[in-house]
Amino acid sequence: MAEAKKLICLECGQANRVPADKLSEKPKCGICGAGLITGKVAVIDAQTLGKAAKGDDVPLLVDFWAPWCGPCRQMAPQFEQAARQFGADVRLAKIDTQAHPKVAQTYRVQGIPAFVLFVKGREIARFAGVRPAAQLLAEVRAKLPRT
Ligand code: ZN
Repeated sequence: MAEAKKLICLECGQANRVPADKLSEKPKCGICGAGLITGKVAVIDAQTLGKAAKGDDVPLLVDFWAPWCGPCRQMAPQFEQAARQFGADVRLAKIDTQAHPKVAQTYRVQGIPAFVLFVKGREIARFAGVRPAAQLLAEVRAKLPRT
């Protein structure tokens, strides 16, 4: 039997267990039915971020941004593109640091946009500033644990 991966639903915050060999088959949340791996950027709040950053078995890349930040808005389409390209390897989410001001403090984010990579409950890398999707993909892939 395939190993089960724990995935926090980025819509409702529920913890789901998904067999590793089903990750590429568009698994859905057992509670709310939202896709767990969508290839899209999930918009999350502080509570969901706290759960997913601690509990996810699938790497999670979080964009800390704010609506007033021009470079963040410039980065948004690049981040969307990266989400499509990562597929089931990395989930991408964004959090609005203006709507959730405490997260910048919790995760020691000093400038935005900032991209923080969490793997199995640990921050393993962060990247600051605008960059093309291809560069972000390469930088994140270089940090991912070998499986
Ligand atoms: Zn859900």
